[in-house]
Amino acid sequence: MKRRTKLAPKLPTDSASARRSSPQANTLWRSWSGPSTEELRLAPGGLGLGQVPARLKPELTTRAICGFCSTGCSLDIHLRDGLAVNLTPTTDYPVNLGMACPKGWEALTPLTAPDRATTPMLRRPDGSLRPATWDDAMKSFVTRFKQIMAEHGHESVAFLSTGQICTEEMALLGALWKFGIGAIHCDSNTRQCMATANVAYKQSFGFDAPPFTYADFELGDVLVFVGANPCIAHPIMWQRVLRNQNRPRIIVLDPRRTETAMNATQHLALLPKSDLTLLYGVANLLVQNGWVNRAYIARSTTGFTEFAEFVRSFTPDKVAAETGLTVGQIYRFAEAIHHGKAVSFWWTMGVNQSHEATRTAQAIINLALMTGNIGRAGTGANSITGQCNAMGSRLYSNITSLFAGRDFLKADDRAEVAQLLGIPIDRIPDRNSWAYDQIVQGIADGKIKGLWVVATNASHSWIDQRNFNALLRKLDFLVVQDLYTTTDTAQHAHLILPAAGWGEKDGTFINSERRFGLTKKVCRAPGLALSDFNIFRLIAHYWGCDEMFRDWTSPEAVFQILKKLSADRPCDITGIQDFQHLEESGGIQWPFSERQRQEWNTPKLADHTSTKPLAPCPLPSAFQERRLFADGRFFHPDGKARFLFEAPRPVAEPTDGEFPFILLTGRGTSAQWHTNTRTGKSAVLRTLYPVNAYVEVNPADAKKLGVSPNSLVAVISRRARVECSAFVTPTVQPGQLFIPMHYALTNQLTRAVFDPHSRQPSYKHCAVRLEPAPRDSRSRP
Ligand code: SF4
Repeated sequence: MKRRTKLAPKLPTDSASARRSSPQANTLWRSWSGPSTEELRLAPGGLGLGQVPARLKPELTTRAICGFCSTGCSLDIHLRDGLAVNLTPTTDYPVNLGMACPKGWEALTPLTAPDRATTPMLRRPDGSLRPATWDDAMKSFVTRFKQIMAEHGHESVAFLSTGQICTEEMALLGALWKFGIGAIHCDSNTRQCMATANVAYKQSFGFDAPPFTYADFELGDVLVFVGANPCIAHPIMWQRVLRNQNRPRIIVLDPRRTETAMNATQHLALLPKSDLTLLYGVANLLVQNGWVNRAYIARSTTGFTEFAEFVRSFTPDKVAAETGLTVGQIYRFAEAIHHGKAVSFWWTMGVNQSHEATRTAQAIINLALMTGNIGRAGTGANSITGQCNAMGSRLYSNITSLFAGRDFLKADDRAEVAQLLGIPIDRIPDRNSWAYDQIVQGIADGKIKGLWVVATNASHSWIDQRNFNALLRKLDFLVVQDLYTTTDTAQHAHLILPAAGWGEKDGTFINSERRFGLTKKVCRAPGLALSDFNIFRLIAHYWGCDEMFRDWTSPEAVFQILKKLSADRPCDITGIQDFQHLEESGGIQWPFSERQRQEWNTPKLADHTSTKPLAPCPLPSAFQERRLFADGRFFHPDGKARFLFEAPRPVAEPTDGEFPFILLTGRGTSAQWHTNTRTGKSAVLRTLYPVNAYVEVNPADAKKLGVSPNSLVAVISRRARVECSAFVTPTVQPGQLFIPMHYALTNQLTRAVFDPHSRQPSYKHCAVRLEPAPRDSRSRP
């Protein structure tokens, strides 16, 4: 039994008396259980670590890139007997400079959760899931998928994967599925977060190429955040903003008064999904006032004349009427861009998850292009990625594009990949896969009969979740490969494959600023769980196509294959020698060609597995902080970026008398990650967020509806009715509600609407109504 902590403050007499009568009443003041003082005692850790818990004093340290978000922080893992006992943020890594958010600090905890999948599980005829051997699991996988493909064709199976596994694992999965197994359809959960940025960049720049480096947060004098809340979603990036010495103007476009908006110089609380109109209106003001960079436009872009003509109709009055802003606010925004010496534009899911997402992202890109704010320090049209390896998925998963940004539809690209991999060209499909929503529709239409879900919790996260879960029951065979047996999706599985997690395997992640970083095995996976890499190799063996992957023997061997595939591509990484080179250099951003390696004297960080003190934190060098397009040349054949635009379209589900509120969704806190499968395992993180779902309601609406703070309310859309607590707060505007996406009920409400170019779901707008829930319904599930 744990002893009471002795660190609690002395309570006033009346509180002490209340405590005696009701201990639970004082949980805000002190803990009544927890570690003893001895367990909390700190001692010098050695190795340059400062104070560490005495009981966890390490023998040595090694480094691994965090496996949650796309920031790509490096963590020093404290080792004893070769295994992780603790961690601290790396001080001399050019990304996080000694910082980590709560998720990073708690990264080891989810690995020891009691619901880890430790053995394959097969569903028996009586409906129960029972442990199975890997041999039985593999035979079942291969037999069932081969049966389905024999009966219904090679388009009757699909996989849905993730941005959370290593680049080399993604590459092996994509090659195995398309070249080895001969299937076509696959997508990943990066469709839910980054597909828009991918398509927008490809169309505008000629390649999926986020141009920035994190130093740009520190170097500009105007920073514009569109639909982005880095205070919560990317807290270490926000710390980089706070290091900016230029007293920057920070402009936030967001319907909600988010934590970032609270810290802004100017918060433009525009009406939901009016951002495209606002951005066109600002572009018009820049044109009309002559606040554009004509020389840059002429040298580096095409399509400006047509764009300038197109935005003429977006007059300040019209834009003010459609966005809910004042003409003065819009003018001041344009003026700030004009006066800025180095202006950067940053966007995330508020833009990407929209019914007109791609054109909105490109409207941001257009502002950067027309003002010449790209390719210089502190500038850029910068998409911040979500997952730790969404960027790896975009370039090397072989899902939507052939390896290294090639095109499945181009014979030359297929021939080149076939030659580089030493495989027959006819093993490479000459057509694209269906996107995520098309795969889901394929299940509905009875065309997809077998599905393999890898490291994603689609039953929680897919839009219009109830419909999705009903469709899963139509499948003949569903395989879920995951760390845990308890995910929402695993409940539907016919076969569960137990996977190792972050910290239990080796490989690379690519972060938001294009930086390859190394993650490492510092823990043993439990039971019979295997790394995703080894599961894919096992499947290749049982499928009978392992000869094709004879050189794909380890993550590092695959990294060497990816280098070959990248040669002379915009994402060329031929200059990265091996994993050790990545480690010693503080990660390396693409491109880094062999020629660049010879030009740069790549600096070394401290010894990566070290019993010696770490070196003092050096400032990131020019090598470690590189941005794209400094020469004003883009990746289209003519070297020029494109102005792309399209008239705004109405939302799919406007509010009406029956459903008068707009429901917004997004991140809740920096302690939560996606569907909470991992962050929910940490007692520390659980204290940092409300465990039960809540809806943010404006006080005026709450008063009108008789909703009091923390009371139970029902949120009702055309698809579902859910109950949660009311959080009455002015951070949402009247007529709008907000529910964090981390709660399983959120996507019961959302409506399946997609951007036509990126096919990304529009999570952030649907019509709902709010009403007090009957008192006795709180116990409902
Ligand atoms: Fe990990 Fe992202 Fe937090 Fe950094 S900001 S510690 S990468 S979750």
